[in-house]
Amino acid sequence: MSKGILERLAEGPVLGDGGYLLELEKRGYVQAGPFTPEVVIEHPDALAQLHREFLRAGAEVLQTMTFYASDDKLATVGLAGKVDEINRDAVGIARKVAAEGDALVAGNLSLTWAYDPADPKSADHVRELFDRQLQDQLDAGPPDFWIGETFSFTAEALLFVERAKATGLPVMATMCFERLPARSYEGDTPGGSAKRLADAGADIVGVNCLNGPAQQLPIAVEMVEAVAGAVPVASQPVGYATTDTEADFTAWPDFPYGLTPKTLARGELAAFAADARDAGVRYIGSCCGSVAEHVRAMAKMLGKLPAEERAWKSPTGQAMSAYEYYAHTETEV
Ligand SMILES: [Zn+2]
Repeated sequence: MSKGILERLAEGPVLGDGGYLLELEKRGYVQAGPFTPEVVIEHPDALAQLHREFLRAGAEVLQTMTFYASDDKLATVGLAGKVDEINRDAVGIARKVAAEGDALVAGNLSLTWAYDPADPKSADHVRELFDRQLQDQLDAGPPDFWIGETFSFTAEALLFVERAKATGLPVMATMCFERLPARSYEGDTPGGSAKRLADAGADIVGVNCLNGPAQQLPIAVEMVEAVAGAVPVASQPVGYATTDTEADFTAWPDFPYGLTPKTLARGELAAFAADARDAGVRYIGSCCGSVAEHVRAMAKMLGKLPAEERAWKSPTGQAMSAYEYYAHTETEV
């Protein structure tokens, strides 16, 4: 039987996958704006293909395409009745592709936009939203573990940890931070937030989305120091060149249509993977804007893909490709 996520993390860094929604929008399967995951039931083959690209690139975990697949959020695009179908089918699609290799399936949940610290009733509503997605995904799977991501309130992430832990599967919870210095909406430092999540029983804590590697890695390192080895830390930055003053790519005026010129080269994600590993981050992945080429470069950097496939050389000495013609010698990472 395949090793579980905690066993794999105990042995060394685990490589996550990349971003789904923005890439599927570029390919014509997701609507920019709401960024809801109806692609699961409308174009399952398109989703399976992107899972497969990440798997072939070396990803060791495939996340179910259930970001924003809560009842409230789907209702904004007229799909309130589809929440069960989307959550169930997404697990099946990810599982089928994961079985083509040795990848794990992470059941994905995300912020609900329904949590309001000023409204005591909102916590129970958020619990209900999480429970429905968790139950649907359990029924269809179960997944190998849970990832709850992009929480701005530590308190909402704690609700996720509470509900996800009740299923008995390992739980990873990751925060996101819009600006530097990074703070949760209630004012927790990244280290403080990580510690609260770990103390509540999260098996893996961390940070994902919004920031590119340069801004996100220091946040993850703060978490590594705060939890002091009690749990593994995850970092899944975006594939865009954010800056210290504009640390959240979704706040840029060119979001979501003008991001291409700010996309990082694959080598920059590979460098992040090495730096994150050396800094003690154990779950190393990527998020929006990171596609197969980025994941592949990260996999190579972490020694998770074999070196180039086959030897090739022109038998006559006559150049047979531009690579030979210009005497290139570059390697990928
Ligand atoms: Zn993202």
